[in-house]
Formats: sequence, structure tokens, C-alpha cells
Amino acid sequence: MSDLLDRDKALIWHPFTQEETASDVLPIKRGKGAYLYDENGKAYLDLVSSWWVNIHGHGHPEIAEALYKQALELEHVIFAGFTHEPAIKLCEGLAGILPEALKRFFFSDNGSTAVEVALKMAYQYWSNHGKPKKLFLSFEGGYHGDTVGAMSVGRACGYHDAFEPLFFDIQSIPFPETWQNDEQVEEKEANALSALKQILDLHGNNIAAIILEPLVQGASGMRMCRPSFVKTVVETIRQYEILVIFDEVFTGFGRTGNWFALEQIGIVPDFICLSKGITGGAMPLGMTVTSETVYQSFLSHEWQHAFIHGHSYTGNPLACAAAVASLDILLRPETRQAIEQINATHRLGLDLLRQEVSSVTQARLQGTIAAFNMSPFPLEKEAFKARFLQKGLMLRPLGSSIYLLPPYCITPAELEGAYQEIIAELKRMSGNK
Ligand SMILES: *Cc1c(COP(=O)(O)O)cnc(C)c1O
Repeated sequence: MSDLLDRDKALIWHPFTQEETASDVLPIKRGKGAYLYDENGKAYLDLVSSWWVNIHGHGHPEIAEALYKQALELEHVIFAGFTHEPAIKLCEGLAGILPEALKRFFFSDNGSTAVEVALKMAYQYWSNHGKPKKLFLSFEGGYHGDTVGAMSVGRACGYHDAFEPLFFDIQSIPFPETWQNDEQVEEKEANALSALKQILDLHGNNIAAIILEPLVQGASGMRMCRPSFVKTVVETIRQYEILVIFDEVFTGFGRTGNWFALEQIGIVPDFICLSKGITGGAMPLGMTVTSETVYQSFLSHEWQHAFIHGHSYTGNPLACAAAVASLDILLRPETRQAIEQINATHRLGLDLLRQEVSSVTQARLQGTIAAFNMSPFPLEKEAFKARFLQKGLMLRPLGSSIYLLPPYCITPAELEGAYQEIIAELKRMSGNK
């Protein structure tokens, strides 16, 4: 056993882990591009972009350089009463790729807080208008983070059952997840819309906001829906006075093939929540972006109309500098091409998987995100992950879904190679050795 593993075991409590039954954690020494390396120098292809954050690969020299320079200049300043150029530059950059109406930026430091801020702002928007409403609407399977507000709107995702008694009231809509060659999609969407209409009939005037992961529900298993469905939902919602929150913590920054999923849907929400890919995985950072209308509703001579919320690391200059560097890389034509290339390679890989492995079902694809289910799932989950790690592939199934979510710097040959390995291994696991 490695020395690091011993020292880890003595002290560390890992997230999202049943420590009693989980396999040993793997100490990682360094990362470069699409690969992570352990203490013995063994390489692992990072097919999960290190918890979905690492969009440009590991150890990117430009992000590292930006961090170093910023650290020498200014590492932190209280963000109430003060400002700094990295924060301003980041907002200017984001304003350039977001819809024009989304122009007020509020900083926090992770995805859950970006969501928490949007929920609190939506709630206070209505109370500042003298029309308090406290009900929220969300989708079954939606995951929005692990703070109490974010868990409340994500209560139907299955991760938060232990905390149920703490949650505030929500109404949830069935999510019409779909995949390639799905013949029931119309029916599932019609059912979801009719459930939505029922909820609106009953509660329409008491709902402060709807929150959703547009196009892809990440944590509940890369469940995808059609853009036209989301558009219809928002158009239906907007016949009532209900604010719309797009949680693009996962789908933002090129993941779905566009800079943001909202582009495919053709909707401008009242809030967008950003985190994960925002710094390319280098630093924690969250942002909640909203409209001038929402912002204006907090302006008054009364302190209690202000948004009294902030975190010690709000607008951290190092995080902002990393995000500015990451955005610069994202906006290059080469990155756009790489994203398209990943999509094309996924398409071929999924076709091959379906042909070669009979237990593959529900193959689905959205931008750089490919996923499929295995029915039956070929191996116990810990053993499954270990087998792929042995092969040098970092895969982390969610339920019975397996997904491939590489950083954009992966080459077509590396991704094709991964599909070949996965197909060979799944065939072996599925019994035919
Ligand atoms: C990961 C995630 C969050 C929570 O972000 P954290 O940084 O883990 O707190 C919220 N919403 C979505 C859609 C996510 O994928």
C-alpha cells in the first residue's frame, strides 16, 4: 500500500463515498492534457474531466501562468466595497457570449452556491415586489447541488433522501428523458407537459421560479431531453409570473456543443447558474447571472431590499484570473473544432458500441457528452471501476449509465482508442470473456 494511501486513510473523509465499502482511493501525482498519472507514473485517460470541471485538460500552461501572475499581484480582496480587474474582465468576457439580457453577475464559489443564490434572488425578487411566493418548481431527477436550498429543489434526484425533512416545498415535473431511436419520446413529453399544466392550474400564482438543468440532467445519469421540450416548458411557464432559472453548472462552457445549452433551446432565462467548467478546473468559482430587471428590483433606500448574501471567497482574484484564461482558450476556433470532433467521434463510438455489445441500451449524445445504459449492468460497480482503472481509463458510472465526458484537448485517436477498449472490456465482462 502506498504511503499516501495510509496517510489519507488516517485522516480524510471523501465526498459522495460510503467509506465502509468503497475501494481504496487512488493517489494521483500529476496531470497533463487528457491524462492523470499516479505515483508509479501510470497514466489514466480522464474520461470524466475530473468531476466534469476540467475542460481544457490538466496542467494547462496558460491557466497556470495566469494563476502565477495573479498570485504575485493580488490573491484576495474583500469583494464588498472593493473590486478588481480579473473580476471585471471575466464578466466582460462572459457578457460577450451570453444573451444580451443576462448582464448582472453575482459571484460565489461553487455550483451549489450559484444555485442557492439564484433561488434566494428569485424568492426575494417577489417579496421586494410585495408579492411573496415560496413555492419552487423543478424536474424529477434534477440535481442542483448539496446545500439545503439546492437539495430542496433537487429532492427528486435520489441523492438527498436523508435530509428530506429539512426541505422547503417544491412541485416536480416528470423528466421526459430520451435517447437514440426512442419511439416514446412524444408521449413522455406530452405526459410531462400535462403534469406541468396541472401543477400550474393548482399553484401557478404561488410559484416563485422553476429551476432546471437544460438538455442534460448530469448527476442523475446523463439523462437527456429535446431542446424543443425545454422551450415549450418555458413558454408555458411564462404565461404565469414565474422566473426561470437555468442551472448550467454542468452544461455550460461548451459541454453541449454550444457555449451554453440555452443557445440550442432558444430561450433566455431570468437566471443562469455557472461553475464547473468556468475555470477549466483550476480554481473553485460560481456565478449567478441575471437580468437588469431582477437587479433593479433590489435597488431601494432600504437595506432589507438589498441582496444580503456573500461568501468570504466571493470574486476571488485567482479564480477570476483562471476563468479569464480558460475563457480565452475556450473561444479559440481550435477549441470549437475540438468540440465538434469529440461529438463526431462519440457518434461513431456509440454506433459501434450498440453493434458490438448487445446489453447496451439508451445510447445518447449531446455535444461532448456521450452516455448509454447497460442492462444488465455487467459487474458490481466498484469492480467495474477498478477493471477500467487497470486498463488506464477513468470511467465512473452513474446508476446503470456509463458516460464519456472528456476534456476538449483529447485527440480523436485517444477517444477512438477508449471506445475500442471499452467495447472489448464490456464484451469480456458480459460473460463471453
Ligand atoms: C455539480 C452540479 C451542481 C453543484 O455544483 P458543486 O460545485 O458541486 O456544488 C449544481 N448543479 C449542477 C447541474 C451540477 O452538475
